[in-house]
Amino acid sequence: MRNLCLIFPDQLNHEISSLEDFDQNLDEILICEFKKDFDNVNHHKKKIVYQISCMRHFNLEMVEMGYTVNYIKLNAPNNKNNHIAEILTLVKEKDFKKIFLTEPSTYDELESIKKWQEIIGINIEVRKNNLFICDKKEFELWAEGRKELRLEFFYRMLRKKLNILMDDEKPTGDRWNFDKSNRKPFRDNITIPDTYISSPDKLTTNIINLVNQEFPEHFGKTDNFIFAVTRADAIDALTLFVKERLKYFGDYQDAMTVEDPWLFHCHLSMYLNNGLIKPIECLELAERAYRDSNIPINSVEGFTRQILGWREYVRGLYWLKMPDYRTLNSLNAKLDLPSFYWDGETNMNCIKLCVENTKDNAYAHHIQRLMILGNFALISGINPIDVNDWFLSVYADAYEWVELPNVTGMALYADDGIMASKPYAASGAYIKRMSNYCDQCHYDVKEKTGEKACPFNYLYWNFLDNNKNKLSKNPRLGLAYRNLNNMPNEKLKNVKKSAHTFFVKMKNNEKI
Ligand code: FAD
Ligand code: SF4
Repeated sequence: MRNLCLIFPDQLNHEISSLEDFDQNLDEILICEFKKDFDNVNHHKKKIVYQISCMRHFNLEMVEMGYTVNYIKLNAPNNKNNHIAEILTLVKEKDFKKIFLTEPSTYDELESIKKWQEIIGINIEVRKNNLFICDKKEFELWAEGRKELRLEFFYRMLRKKLNILMDDEKPTGDRWNFDKSNRKPFRDNITIPDTYISSPDKLTTNIINLVNQEFPEHFGKTDNFIFAVTRADAIDALTLFVKERLKYFGDYQDAMTVEDPWLFHCHLSMYLNNGLIKPIECLELAERAYRDSNIPINSVEGFTRQILGWREYVRGLYWLKMPDYRTLNSLNAKLDLPSFYWDGETNMNCIKLCVENTKDNAYAHHIQRLMILGNFALISGINPIDVNDWFLSVYADAYEWVELPNVTGMALYADDGIMASKPYAASGAYIKRMSNYCDQCHYDVKEKTGEKACPFNYLYWNFLDNNKNKLSKNPRLGLAYRNLNNMPNEKLKNVKKSAHTFFVKMKNNEKI
């Protein structure tokens, strides 16, 4: 019996569950590049280059390994731009009896697959997605009956279960969490090693040209394309990170600096999210580095928490809460996304630099995303649909399952605290403490109100004041609300006036 195995663009791994029991003498693979997947939002050009190049390199590897692959290229004349039509044609031609696939990463895709069997008329077997550590059902069971779905308990459960960073029954280093040691600003005289750089080969160069031709209006640029596009290169990137940057990952996890957009982060999310590398490979290598070398525990634990904890947690939460999660807006945020998110034309140096980094690299590290770009959207009241659309577009690692909880839950608190125990709202003081962005800013971070004042300062208090009913009972905001309540009337009036003036200018598209 001859079967067809469908592999999605973010499942580029030879060990994907859909390939289990694959009979190389009979069975075939189907991989498709569909234009609709690349222009459903304004995806960064580098993200499109990355995805297509990885897919085509994966195809070459599979063919070399003896697999028969039906590979539908973006600009092929017979590209039907949808899976059902491609599958129907193949089934007719080659008489496949069954279709195997690994469950897709996003809700809409899975919903649409549920209808395929009836349309196509042959059996479709959807297998668990083994590119994740925690199965969707396992997350559901963990979440069942809990009042709060806090990351920390989920993370501990997985560490124990997988025996990662454990010494017998105890967490390595005698603590589960070294977060408090991971908040150093970057003021030290330490050289930041270069991130992994891969020069585009001929195939990638052709795709760069193709993307510039097919998607000329999309965000960002294709020059200086440095991402790995094969599993071998992605493994090299992981190895380089563990060797050169992991030791400082913990210390500077929350730091930001004008001088370097990459810092000591791993820059592996795009490889993890399309299957080039597996999360367990990252965790094992990091733990080995801790056991064999002198890598500090706050770094290895911090890295483990991001990959085993946060990454698996947001995926579990996504599946648990979809499709409603997409429309949540608990703070009733209504403003449109300002145009400087796309062109960086603002006097706020922190936002300008983060947008420029994003435009150049299709990458920004977590604190830039959360505490600059997300924080501004939160305290300004930008509507979650616009903010999600932007975050889904601009980063090479962005897929709905990971982008949506991070934006709606973590950055915007639009899920009313399902994900975060309090909004990640911060004034300019936080940005000043954790970065050197303010040193060269048009605004004065020490000024609280008025023309020259840092907008984050008055927007922060304005946000707390506007959302008093909703947030003032949150125990983690107790101090902030006590300070707001003790604020002299005149001062609060000036805060509101500065915020109002700022929003009027933003609405009129004036440079702010
Ligand atoms: P590092 O900082 O070195 O962290 C190591 C790894 O841990 C990452 O590669 C990633 O796989 C994982 N990780 C860390 N934090 C998270 C998290 N909160 N959620 C999921 N995985 C995490 N991550 C995406 O992969 N895609 C997105 O579209 C995305 N959108 C985000 C939007 C916002 C508003 C915020 C606040 C965060 C978002 N993140 C997203 C999470 C995180 O910012 C990125 O995973 C990280 O910046 C990627 O860079 P890195 O590989 O250098 O990660
Ligand atoms: Fe950003 Fe305010 Fe600092 Fe300027 S002064 S960089 S706007 S935090």
